[in-house]
Parts: sequence; structure tokens; C-alpha cells
Amino acid sequence: MTQRQLDSLQRRRAALLDELHRLPNLMRGTVYQRERKCGRASCTCATGGPRHPGVQLTVNVGGKTRTRYVRQQERASIEEMIGVYRRLWQLVEELTEVNLALLHASPAQGASS
Ligand SMILES: [Zn+2]
Repeated sequence: MTQRQLDSLQRRRAALLDELHRLPNLMRGTVYQRERKCGRASCTCATGGPRHPGVQLTVNVGGKTRTRYVRQQERASIEEMIGVYRRLWQLVEELTEVNLALLHASPAQGASS
């Protein structure tokens, strides 16, 4: 590996770490549209009528699936946190690749080559 390639990898690593350190609040989970019953006995949805559209958050924590309905005003911020979580894992993947390349560029001490 040339010095130039090494410099480039090190700059890439610094940029990835910088972004990692600046990540805002995050959470794991999936948000999706789902029809549901509203729970009122007098509503037509209780007797097979059309259900109400709703948004649901599902996340598995400690082996248990947790589900919660999402209020309209919460949806954007929840989806944003989930997006940050995905970005976190992209950063982990990219950092792993860069660090592997850097490890590859510097042979272990004592290794005969
Ligand atoms: Zn209903």
C-alpha cells in the first residue's frame, strides 16, 4: 500500500469517527401502517366494519417484542431516531472495512513475510 492510500484510509477513518461521535438520539425499531379496532363497543369496527388506520412501532428488546401505537405528532421523530440507528450500523460497517484495510497495511510485528 502506498503512503497516499494509507493517508486516504486514515482520513476516511477520522471522518467516520467524527460522524459517529456526532450522531444524535437514536432507537431501534420498525414503524408501519396498520389497521386497528378503536376499542369502542359502539363503533362499526367492533362488529366487522372498517378498521381505523394507525401507525405502529415494533421493537424487540431483550428477546421480547414490544409494540406501541404511534401518535401522528410522534411519527417523524421516531422515524428519525430509527434512521440514525441505521446510519450507526452503516458507520460500524464502514469503519470495520477501513480498519481491516489499515491492519492489512501494517503487518503484525514478528511476522515473517
Ligand atoms: Zn372503531
